[in-house]
Amino acid sequence: MEKKQFQAESKRLLELMINSIYSQKEVFLRELISNASDAIDKMYYKALTDDSLSFEKDNYYIKIISDKKNRTLKVVDTGIGMTKGELEQNLGTIAKSGSLAFKTENEIKDGYDIIGQFGVGFYAAFMVADVVTVISKAHGSEEAYKWESEGADGYTIESYDKDHVGTEIILKLKENTEDENYDDYLEEYRLKEIIKKYSDFIRYPIKMNVTVQKPKENNENEFEEHVEEQIINSMVPIWRKNKNELKKEDYEQFYNEKHYGFDKPLKHIHISADGTVRYQAILYIPERIPFDYYSQEYEKGLELYANSVLIMSKCSDLLPDHFSFVKGMVDSEDLSLNISREMLQHDRQLKVIAKNINRRIKNELQLLLKNDRQTYEKFYEAFGRQLKYGVYSEFGAHKEDLQDLLLFYSSTEKKLVTLDEYVSRMSEEQKYIYYATGESYERIEKLPQTELVADKGYEILYFTEDIDEFAIKMLLQYKEKEFKSVSSGDLGIEEDEKEKKKDNAEKEFEKLFAYMKNILGDKVTDVRASKRLRSHPVCLSSEGEVSIEMEKVLQAMPDNQNIKANKVLEINTEHDVFNSLKEAFEHDKEKVTLYTNILFNQALLIEGLPVEDPVEFTNDICKVLV
Ligand code: ADP
Ligand code: MG
Repeated sequence: MEKKQFQAESKRLLELMINSIYSQKEVFLRELISNASDAIDKMYYKALTDDSLSFEKDNYYIKIISDKKNRTLKVVDTGIGMTKGELEQNLGTIAKSGSLAFKTENEIKDGYDIIGQFGVGFYAAFMVADVVTVISKAHGSEEAYKWESEGADGYTIESYDKDHVGTEIILKLKENTEDENYDDYLEEYRLKEIIKKYSDFIRYPIKMNVTVQKPKENNENEFEEHVEEQIINSMVPIWRKNKNELKKEDYEQFYNEKHYGFDKPLKHIHISADGTVRYQAILYIPERIPFDYYSQEYEKGLELYANSVLIMSKCSDLLPDHFSFVKGMVDSEDLSLNISREMLQHDRQLKVIAKNINRRIKNELQLLLKNDRQTYEKFYEAFGRQLKYGVYSEFGAHKEDLQDLLLFYSSTEKKLVTLDEYVSRMSEEQKYIYYATGESYERIEKLPQTELVADKGYEILYFTEDIDEFAIKMLLQYKEKEFKSVSSGDLGIEEDEKEKKKDNAEKEFEKLFAYMKNILGDKVTDVRASKRLRSHPVCLSSEGEVSIEMEKVLQAMPDNQNIKANKVLEINTEHDVFNSLKEAFEHDKEKVTLYTNILFNQALLIEGLPVEDPVEFTNDICKVLV
């Protein structure tokens, strides 16, 4: 019979499975049972939403059959089955395409990370079997098919006889090796153990024939072996269980089983609400950023169950954008099964649930921040940016909710601090919460604009992400303290004698500054004596709503509207450079032009802004050198 080829990425995954040295090969059974359960879910859902079908609960089950003589293990389900096309499509190609792409070569070689943390699904069967056979009859179809594969070099498909709708997976177990006793997977006790460990909460019965000792009919004191069919799993979904009965590992297990992420969850939240709307939820904050998180492809949402039946795998209405990283599920007995996507959006119950969930996530994060700062910082490193977007978006509608979750690097503490911590350290005379923006902490540290504020002993928050200043502008203030950029016009710092002198300097050199302004034209709105500079000769500051950092961000946007900051060139009148300027102003006006242009370009460079004409700039410097 003709052999068909696996799609390239599938083949790679398959080879990985076949040669796996992963120690917990037992997870293959979890994957097969999970698929069987999904298939019954689909059937159940169909029956519940289609009046012409009836769902007899007793007809839906999963059965595990071990055959020691032939060394085969069978997983039988009465789910929706697969057509010929579906067999080829679903088992010949990887649905979760890209799941391998973001793994490092080493992780792939070890196989460990993928298998343990990210479900590999059906192909896991090849960790324990040489030959995998799938016999399936799809709901609504007359014919059945047999799919068979001995590994990476392809598979065959042929017609087959099967009475009932559903799927049978037959594993021909590998020969035992020194390290691995595959016969184990034929033993009752071992199979029971694996099912209990990974699949206890599966909602359909997982049946198995189990040998029991029974007293003989004619002689009560003698026993004989007797085979009876038992249900191995408790069938209570984990979210219906009591929190006290569950361990951290159980939640991690569920996270893996559900393939919510390929990492371990940083934290889980288990909600069992009995209020106006009854619902259970298990939510997770992932440890790592999903590889596509900050891309268009990423889809937020939680799994939504109505009375334990999955009705939507990504319900986005349940999560606000600022918590889009949260994974998990919600089950409510108050939701209708027949509800459509459109109706869901307007569903009152769903709105209540979404609101509660939002509040719970916020509270949990706040607790984490308070009680386990290290873990919170790990979280913040991954998703802090999203929180800041949350502050900024929807015209600040969520800013109150989110402001206490923000962290910024502090100039004095040399670590991340909350706004509350900053404000609690403010002295009485300090009017504002100061911040400085730049590419990195190191670069901000060296910014001339920070000199005066730092000299005063005031703490400065360092903003290194483009969203930072936008978010802060949306906040306006925190605990009645306004935010102030160290580059802004008025810093709100009391003038001492020196400053007064500078005011006088301003008057005295008005003519010089006006002359310089004239040279620079509309590149600047003003040239002034600086009150904030200590050791540097020049800097730029901004007046008005748009800061220089914001100008940079706005200029980089695709729909750039050429919005510019109103820039002021500040001159340090205490600096020797200023003496040269004064002298030139009296004796050599051409030199004033030269100096002004150089100083302005230097100020641009300090800000990380491009110099308009670098060649002219270097020529200017050469003129000074010769
Ligand atoms: P996943 O379950 O994450 O989709 P799998 O590799 O486990 O990935 O399964 C691939 C697909 O094969 C499933 O999505 C499903 O469509 C199909 N499938 C696997 N096992 C069964 C089964 N027992 N009954 C029906 N369909 C199945
Ligand atoms: Mg699966």
